[in-house]
Amino acid sequence: MTVDYLIIGQGISGTWLSYYLEKEGSSFIVIDNDNKNSPSRISAGIINPVTGRRHAEVWMADKILPFASTAYSALGKELNITAISSKNIIDFFPSPQMRVGFMQRVEEKGQYVYSYPEQYHFLNHFNYSFGCGEIKPVYTAHLETLLPAWRQKLLNKEQLLQEVFEIDQLRVLPDSIQYKNITANKIIFCDGNSSAANPYFEALPFAPNKGELMIVEIPDLPASYIYKKGMMLVPLTTPGLWWIGSNYAWQFDTPDITTEFREKTEALLKEWLKLPFTIKAHLAGVRPATLERRPFVGLHPLYKNIGLLNGMGTKGCSLAPFFAKQLVEHLCYGKPINPEADINRFQKILSRNVF
Ligand SMILES: Cc1cc2nc3c(=O)[nH]c(=O)nc-3n(C[C@H](O)[C@H](O)[C@H](O)COP(=O)(O)OP(=O)(O)OC[C@H]3O[C@@H](n4cnc5c(N)ncnc54)[C@H](O)[C@@H]3O)c2cc1C
Repeated sequence: MTVDYLIIGQGISGTWLSYYLEKEGSSFIVIDNDNKNSPSRISAGIINPVTGRRHAEVWMADKILPFASTAYSALGKELNITAISSKNIIDFFPSPQMRVGFMQRVEEKGQYVYSYPEQYHFLNHFNYSFGCGEIKPVYTAHLETLLPAWRQKLLNKEQLLQEVFEIDQLRVLPDSIQYKNITANKIIFCDGNSSAANPYFEALPFAPNKGELMIVEIPDLPASYIYKKGMMLVPLTTPGLWWIGSNYAWQFDTPDITTEFREKTEALLKEWLKLPFTIKAHLAGVRPATLERRPFVGLHPLYKNIGLLNGMGTKGCSLAPFFAKQLVEHLCYGKPINPEADINRFQKILSRNVF
């Protein structure tokens, strides 16, 4: 079988890469091992314009957010699913200091943060003593619906192989690559943390970051917002089901779930929520994050038939569509990739690995 591209991974990065390659009429095969705990499968899908305790604007928010909103809506329409919803965040201040900090941002005319007019509006459902603010616009990408729907489309068109990719079976030739019975002009890795052990890319400064979450049933909570108090409580597409998380661990003994997280989250819910809830699931995953918190996009400086779309960290839902499109325009038309994301910024260290 001969194709233009072999794509490894059908998380959010591989999904968007294959989507834009299809738009260009390129042929491709995707290999994915269907790991149910991959970050893309367990992500909350939040596309948030601000980050951290200071509510600082996220990198390139003015470009990336509108792009994501349009891209997910278009893909959802093609697949006949709801791929994205607008869900602003109601931020319950955990302390008077946090309230002061938030209101200072509002007064500085910080874009995206607003005072909430009716401070007691949520008292039927939540306990909170220090008021709340609103963050907008915020979206949730419905990856729990989108990823299986795109996968099914690829399976129907015989463009997806459900198996483990084995790097030792890859042969890199001067103008193509060979993997088992597949010949491709290029191979593009969208395989999350697996790339950190890939001999072509292991020198890159990956910094895996673990996160845990729980799925809870709260039948009576209105699903009109994402609610935040230390953690995010996010409505899922199934009515009554909510996602709560997450923590961010740069160092961890196990990639699996911990009793510590479960106890902490359960205690938070008991203290915060006035409604009954039932815990349905507890999951953990490791985000493909990077030391300087910027993605890894582009072709290997020495092996021009090997590429990478990775390092999406905590913001894959917003970054993946934008950078998948940039990568495809680079592959098809030679357009430049944003230098802060282009893996050529690591030309020196990547050039040390010569096979
Ligand atoms: C708890 C948690 C909450 C999160 N919440 C958010 C959020 O609200 N908003 C946001 O923007 N981001 C969030 N993230 C981060 C986001 O999930 C990631 O940035 C994003 O999913 C990365 O996508 P990816 O496709 O690059 O990698 P991955 O999701 O890791 O996908 C890689 C794919 O490659 C496959 N694969 C790997 N190795 C192989 C192999 N050898 N052979 C075959 N297949 C292979 C995997 O099965 C997987 O399908 C969260 C992450 C976690 C863990």
